[in-house]
Amino acid sequence: MSAILLTGGAGYIGSHTALALLRAGFDVISIDNYSNSNDEALKRVQKLAGRNLQSLQMDIRDEPALTALFKQHRISAVVHFAGLKAVGESTEQPLAYYDNNVAGTITLCRVMQQAHVKRLVFSSSATVYGDAKTMPIAESAPRSATNPYGQSKLMIEHILEDLAASDPAWSIALLRYFNPVGADKSGQIGEDPNGIPNNLMPFISQVAVGKRTELSVFGNDYPTKDGTGVRDYIHVVDLADGHLKALEYVQQHTGIDAFNLGTGVGYSVLDMVQAFADKNKVPVPYRIVARRPGDIASCYADPGKASQLLRWQAKLTLDDMVQDSWRWQQQNPHGYQE
Ligand code: NAD
Ligand code: UDP
Repeated sequence: MSAILLTGGAGYIGSHTALALLRAGFDVISIDNYSNSNDEALKRVQKLAGRNLQSLQMDIRDEPALTALFKQHRISAVVHFAGLKAVGESTEQPLAYYDNNVAGTITLCRVMQQAHVKRLVFSSSATVYGDAKTMPIAESAPRSATNPYGQSKLMIEHILEDLAASDPAWSIALLRYFNPVGADKSGQIGEDPNGIPNNLMPFISQVAVGKRTELSVFGNDYPTKDGTGVRDYIHVVDLADGHLKALEYVQQHTGIDAFNLGTGVGYSVLDMVQAFADKNKVPVPYRIVARRPGDIASCYADPGKASQLLRWQAKLTLDDMVQDSWRWQQQNPHGYQE
């Protein structure tokens, strides 16, 4: 039987997708260089699924190793998560971001092409919409980037579009994630950021558990309902399901298509703080501080295309997001380190 290859399979979204794939009966191979993850995540995934996957330490830029992997296994499609994702770090280390994300993807695609494996699901991001003028954002909205991380995603989208145009055998889904949060219901796997979290939900969880004293809310003077930033938070389990639907889609179609994976609903920073505190009955002290440079006021998806073509829709609620994030945080106050 052929397998699905996950690059970056030990990461936050990769591990949840690995679990969903195993549960759906797929054979799964994960490669990861563990630069931002721990192989404990995939050990837990296998326990939860009651099935094994093959997990290898490998860098996507290691062309000989990748080539050998494609020779040794029958791979039907690749879900490509591997990459660096911290916006701030990307402005300090642009070369590392272009090398990992852009050069890494080129290497992966070259090896796939040689192996005649031309089905690819790629982790793109809503960041490719830059500071969008109209909400909700449809896939046809203009694209732009405001930092090297976003630029790397945009460059990869263009490269994959050119690749699909060059050879009609390619079948590629660009999945533009909005703001992934939450964790598997078991509390066994979740987001395990290194150091001080950049993202809102892990920061809120760490304040609630007592690892940090208070949340800094970056600005309350945006043109939004309460002045704080509005985002489209999407439960990672819904996101994982979106990858299964995208894999089905690339089996049945050729060419390239972009899909928003979001709920279509925007919540403000204060909505998130309140939902977390109320639902979990835990205080989340916060303070309003200055805006974070580069942040936009609002960003939420028009998820209609994914609903129509992938037959995918987010099902989990804001309560699920805050409860599941909290369960993971409480059970694993130090992430996978324990
Ligand atoms: P993550 O850091 O948890 O997972 C990425 C994984 O890739 C990690 O396990 C890391 O060790 C691995 N990796 C990095 N460079 C590699 C390389 N050169 N070779 C092999 N493995 C490598 O991040 P995530 O949140 O799971 O994100 C997965 C993908 O989704 C990324 O491409 C990210 O840019 C994209 N994305 C994430 C978000 C988000 O908010 N989490 C939003 C939009 C898009
Ligand atoms: N945010 C915040 N404090 C934090 C982290 C984030 O107020 O410590 C806000 C941020 O300004 C934005 C929202 O929360 O309005 C989501 O930010 P995140 O970094 O999670 O995602 P992104 O900026 O990529 O949408």
